[in-house]
Amino acid sequence: MGRRPIIAGNWKLNPDSVEQARELADAVAEGDVGEVDVVLIPPAVFIAQVRQAVAGAGVAVGAQNMHPAANGAFTGEVSGSMLRSLGCAYVVCGHSERRGVFGETSEFVGEKVAAALQVGLTPILCCGETRSQRDGGSATAVVAQQLRDGLAALDAEAAARCVLAYEPVWAIGTGLTATPQQAEETHAFIRHWLVERFDRETAETIRIQYGGSVKPHNAAELLAQPNIDGALVGGASLKAESFLAIVGCASRS
Ligand code: PEP
Repeated sequence: MGRRPIIAGNWKLNPDSVEQARELADAVAEGDVGEVDVVLIPPAVFIAQVRQAVAGAGVAVGAQNMHPAANGAFTGEVSGSMLRSLGCAYVVCGHSERRGVFGETSEFVGEKVAAALQVGLTPILCCGETRSQRDGGSATAVVAQQLRDGLAALDAEAAARCVLAYEPVWAIGTGLTATPQQAEETHAFIRHWLVERFDRETAETIRIQYGGSVKPHNAAELLAQPNIDGALVGGASLKAESFLAIVGCASRS
């Protein structure tokens, strides 16, 4: 059986108000999600309202980040169980902006992935190389190291409950999408890496999203690739129309 496509919208630090968040979530909830797992990933402060807006619409809600600890002296952080209590089903771990702007290490990302699974959240573990790493020929080595650390604590059964997102850093928010061939090449590499690290069945179960300037005009060709099982969408998820158009592409892939 094929892997069910998963399209997630990472709203990042948007929109400005809870009213606008509600409006965007309402508009997505009115769309047709078909046979696609659709996830909205708003800022943490909007999760409860977004969850309410999409209830019954077949749309799940995720968080952009979490702290691995359950409680404690971690001012400004949120835990996995707090997110679960809001009805969150997914959490992004190791987005390149968390790694690059906030200095998160791959080991710390691995702690988040393990903690997320423990409370019943599905981690969306992000990996991807910078432009200079790609130009220097180390793209796959970088991705492999991020996966090795991000999945370090997991056995095959736990790994099978994760979603991965390959997001070349040079393609995020830049309008520069990896070509379908470039993306598929890395996704195939990741699939093979998963076979070696776990086993074939686990590797075939895990869904690997592509992220990096996915738009309605390029989504169909990316999603048609055999190892691309969905998309993590930033900019284009801030308009219901463009986000739902990408969901429609996944429905037909
Ligand atoms: C992202 O936020 O993960 C992302 C891929 O952003 P964009 O689609 O805007 O490149």
